[in-house]
Amino acid sequence: SRAALFDAENKVKITFKDVAGLEEAKEEIQEIVEFLKNPTKFTILGGKIPKGALLVGPPGTGKTLLAKAVAGEADVPFFSLSGSDFVEMFVGVGAARVRDLFKQAKAKAPCIIFIDEIDAIGRSRSRGQMPGGNDERENTLNSLLVEMDGFATDSGVIILAATNRPDILDSALLRPGRFDRQISIDKPDINGRTHIFGVHLGPLTLSGDVDAKKLAAQTPGFAGAEIANVCNEAALIAARRNKKAVEMQDFNDAIDRVIGGLEKKNKIIS
Ligand code: ATP
Repeated sequence: SRAALFDAENKVKITFKDVAGLEEAKEEIQEIVEFLKNPTKFTILGGKIPKGALLVGPPGTGKTLLAKAVAGEADVPFFSLSGSDFVEMFVGVGAARVRDLFKQAKAKAPCIIFIDEIDAIGRSRSRGQMPGGNDERENTLNSLLVEMDGFATDSGVIILAATNRPDILDSALLRPGRFDRQISIDKPDINGRTHIFGVHLGPLTLSGDVDAKKLAAQTPGFAGAEIANVCNEAALIAARRNKKAVEMQDFNDAIDRVIGGLEKKNKIIS
């Protein structure tokens, strides 16, 4: 909640089975689950457990979902904050928030800290400076670096961060001992989309003509978030039409609607 300055979930129910596709990413991140479950097993020969990993990929591809699933799989608390929340922060608040987050996380270790849109905090310090406007962001970034350096690798806190702009990140964030691992999360191919439809069709009452493979073929370029959106829209459209089950026609109309929404968004951006 806002009052706590960040979100904390003690018991995460999401696991890898909720994350469709992304097989390589899941395999890579499985290692972090192992670290969280049994840290001493890995440090016994003198090795150091990584402090953080960066999840890199376009919006809506499941970065947040995957980070949560790591916490769910390891059965550890999940602390999260979003970089974009820092953009209009009053002086001193961002750094204090980061310190407070790490303090609480350390007390609850083993756990995951997830920083969404880390580029909003961690943009290269030499880039895109607005006159006079960037001191607070820099303070926040510095406090994040200080906190990351300040805890032992066997403390049981692992920081996952997400971005779709790894190219603009301050190189200090990517040094060994900070976010020294990158896991790429790509937009799903047709197989990935079929699996994602599979997950999101699950809770719906469907008519016999609904086919995840066909839907995947009709949605090139869609990320998981858009697929989830299509499934929900289709259920609402079918309900409005007083149907007993969601039919392929409802999905087709939902797809058109989601494509329309995406086009509008792109127009606003360009
Ligand atoms: P952003 O960068 O915009 O924060 P993100 O990559 O963190 O996006 P999520 O927030 O994890 O994306 O995804 C949004 C929603 O889309 C999820 O809650 C889920 O419903 C759905 N989704 C995305 N990817 C997948 C996936 N691989 N499998 C199942 N559902 C997915």
